[in-house]
Amino acid sequence: MIKYRLYCEICNWKKLTDGKDIDLFEIKTCPVPGGYPKTDPVTKITTPAKSKPQPKKFRCPQCGRAVIPRKIDDPQNTIDEKKKIENSQKERAASEKEQLGKRVVYGKNWLDGDKDSA
Ligand SMILES: [Zn+2]
Repeated sequence: MIKYRLYCEICNWKKLTDGKDIDLFEIKTCPVPGGYPKTDPVTKITTPAKSKPQPKKFRCPQCGRAVIPRKIDDPQNTIDEKKKIENSQKERAASEKEQLGKRVVYGKNWLDGDKDSA
């Protein structure tokens, strides 16, 4: 699920949205021109400069400054939860292996001791 995070650095206002429930005022932007127009010396055809479209901006409801929404693929809390589950599973597997190793060592020692005494 793609979500957008709106965060205002000026007043610390923030909002998570999936883009459907935005009831904010969108600030209109125009493309930023990059480079310069080029004219072909032979054909005299002018190609216009490439322009970059600007990201959408919204007005912060608290202080009125422009806020650019950031795309987030997975909200942080679900990532953290997944990591926690993975870590606990790894720890459990590691401790089980350790205990198995100890048992084998104890068994060997005990068998070796038994052989020596016999
Ligand atoms: Zn603000």
